[in-house]
Amino acid sequence: MQSGLKNSKYESQIVSHPLVSIDPTQRAWIEVSGQSIEHNVREIKSFLTNGCQFMAVVKADGYGHDAKFVSINAIKGGADKLGVATLQEGLHLRSEGIKEPILVLGNIYTRKDLIICFRNNLMPTISDIKQCIICNQIGEKYKKLFHVHLKIDTGMSRLGFDTNNFVKYFQKIISFENIKIDGIYSHLSTADSLDALDKSSFANKQRRTFLQLLSNISIKKYPNIKIHLANSAGTLIGNEFHFDMVRVGLCMYGYKPSQYQTNLKLKAAMSLKSKVSFIRLVDKKVGVSYGKNFITRKKTKLAVISIGYADGIYRTLSNKISLIHKGKMYPQIGSITMDQLMIDITGANDINVGDTVLLLGCDEGKCISPVDWADAASTIPWEILCAFKNRLPRVQI
Ligand SMILES: *Cc1c(COP(=O)(O)O)cnc(C)c1O
Repeated sequence: MQSGLKNSKYESQIVSHPLVSIDPTQRAWIEVSGQSIEHNVREIKSFLTNGCQFMAVVKADGYGHDAKFVSINAIKGGADKLGVATLQEGLHLRSEGIKEPILVLGNIYTRKDLIICFRNNLMPTISDIKQCIICNQIGEKYKKLFHVHLKIDTGMSRLGFDTNNFVKYFQKIISFENIKIDGIYSHLSTADSLDALDKSSFANKQRRTFLQLLSNISIKKYPNIKIHLANSAGTLIGNEFHFDMVRVGLCMYGYKPSQYQTNLKLKAAMSLKSKVSFIRLVDKKVGVSYGKNFITRKKTKLAVISIGYADGIYRTLSNKISLIHKGKMYPQIGSITMDQLMIDITGANDINVGDTVLLLGCDEGKCISPVDWADAASTIPWEILCAFKNRLPRVQI
């Protein structure tokens, strides 16, 4: 409790309420299938050439699935390493007892943060010689090699050494005695575009730039340095993008990042569920929800569902999605509100208050995917997955 409240007249009220644990499926929740994660890792690994490693990308709390749970199941499926975005995410996994190598994909640049990184056995991404000098000093001070991955910017214009000075800096870094270069990588910016398979695509151009730089530093002399380039989309393009390791996020959660076909059989790991909290009949020509931007055309039976935009469902999806109940689809109508939304269940006699409805996932052969929502909301499935709030309990199955 905040100290400011300590002696206030509200104190007794606040502390006297015992915490009552509530059924996580009381209102709205996300079910995460550990088996699906494990299956997807195996499935993608079977598509990789011999020896190619799999980095499970579990940033942003495992794309909203719970980073620890995803990590454990990805490792069961054969993941070799984990990728996180931030120092905090790496520390979280270490504090949960995860022992596998972890690469921090974001940029860590202060000495203080690099020391925390080092002491928790997390590998930083290095984009700059200054960072590298600090890492070398840290390794020297603690008398232990600091394991790092160097990144090259081949066209994303985000992190990474410039292509025109990477070779010069590499020669310097390789002479540092307290650093071990575990990996050299780059990141594709357009691997999910339709033309990615063409030899003249930008993804292929990035790959050739990367190869050229690796050849300029005589990478063959350093067989222990892991070379990696591909995210999910890059992994799907083909073997020539796999190198020594792939960094897979979206596909591991069961979704394809791009339009082109693959034979991979991926299983959606997430099911988003909620409950019917109320049922009512309304007349025709009646407005439903804020702004009355849905007017009934007939006598309509409505079910109120206890989930809304404060749970992470974009309000821009209003009137654009459907929900599944016992294998049947029902359209969502009216504006999605902060905590609730309405669906049209006219004609259905098998829906009752307290029933579970499915917003994302599969039920009796009907499926709704974050990719469908992304198309409807003019965004990408990654953003849909990352939008879900902590108010939704994650239920592990
Ligand atoms: C997020 C991320 C990935 C994983 O991307 P997906 O498209 O979800 O597979 C890979 N590499 C880097 C550097 C990333 O930031």
